[in-house]
Amino acid sequence: MKAAVFHGAHEPLTIEELELDKPMAREVVVRTVASGVCHSDLHFVDGFYPHPAPAVLGHEAAGIVEDVGELVTYVQPGDHVISCLSVFCGTCEKCLTGHPNLCVSSDTRRAPSDPPKITYKRDGAPVQQFLNISSFADRMLLHENAVVKIRQDMPLDRAALIGCGVMTGVGAALNTAKVEPGSTVAVYGAGGVGLAAIQGALIAGARMIIAVDVVESKLALAKELGATHVVDASSRDPAKAVRDLTDGGVDYAFEAIGLKSAAEQAFSSLAAGGVATIIGMIPVGEKIEIEGRYFLSERKIQGSSMGSNRFRVDMPRYIEFYLQGRLRLDEMITRRGKLEDVNEAFRAMKAGEVARTVLMFD
Ligand SMILES: [Zn+2]
Ligand SMILES: [Zn+2]
Repeated sequence: MKAAVFHGAHEPLTIEELELDKPMAREVVVRTVASGVCHSDLHFVDGFYPHPAPAVLGHEAAGIVEDVGELVTYVQPGDHVISCLSVFCGTCEKCLTGHPNLCVSSDTRRAPSDPPKITYKRDGAPVQQFLNISSFADRMLLHENAVVKIRQDMPLDRAALIGCGVMTGVGAALNTAKVEPGSTVAVYGAGGVGLAAIQGALIAGARMIIAVDVVESKLALAKELGATHVVDASSRDPAKAVRDLTDGGVDYAFEAIGLKSAAEQAFSSLAAGGVATIIGMIPVGEKIEIEGRYFLSERKIQGSSMGSNRFRVDMPRYIEFYLQGRLRLDEMITRRGKLEDVNEAFRAMKAGEVARTVLMFD
């Protein structure tokens, strides 16, 4: 297979010929049709999060099942699927209490004695799989519990977005924070995940949705997708601006960048009783400072892992929303490219030029 290989932080990915192993037991091979380039991939390239190299990055994808292991019952060749990094075992305490996104069971992974999933074609050296997916490749070898079957009339490039960014943002609003109808919301960061959180708040019926960003074009898109107000954080204290707009603060704030300052501002944007949900990946080792007295007025801060998803239930619902026009995905794809464009996609994302680049495979 052809894949983009990560060699370490701050190094460009290179396109290489690799070998994908045959599916064992409950594994499936999926022909990748589309893979979004997500900020989380960039965090590893930028070295904010460590990952062993060489590895194939990418984790926001959709494609068509090509081959299945002998114990697979959920899908068959020809099925259209979205991959999700929240692979679940289905039998552990987290899975059985409604939190499959927090499953850490190793039952869905290969044992160390099994052959590696991905190797170099030239010498058979192993290549690491990333987040159980590795979608910057024309084939993926996944556990069947890392995919959801979807209807075949759903365009696969838009379906790919649901695989991470949309699930993460919409899920943070609907599942993690459980935004209530009529409430007020502020979303810090209007990239792919932030735009999805805004749309989640809209679906939930929030009456006021304030988008905060420093890039004007992103704020314009946020408005198009459901923000009722925008705050340009490059020219003012955004938390104060949010408190002024809402007469004291919002019920729900979301941080969708992965920045200490934005997380602190999200918390400072809250009304009494409000809850700040941190979605972004704050760099390893970094601490968030908040003033303790605000807990006296029942302000809360919480994390969100992949939108607290139950993705086999959530993702098909989001597809219905999309097909009904209630979740807008077309606008979130700024560019389409080929696998070879992956480094350019990272550059454009860093420069704030795109909500999403989607890599298309033929
Ligand atoms: Zn992602
Ligand atoms: Zn589990």
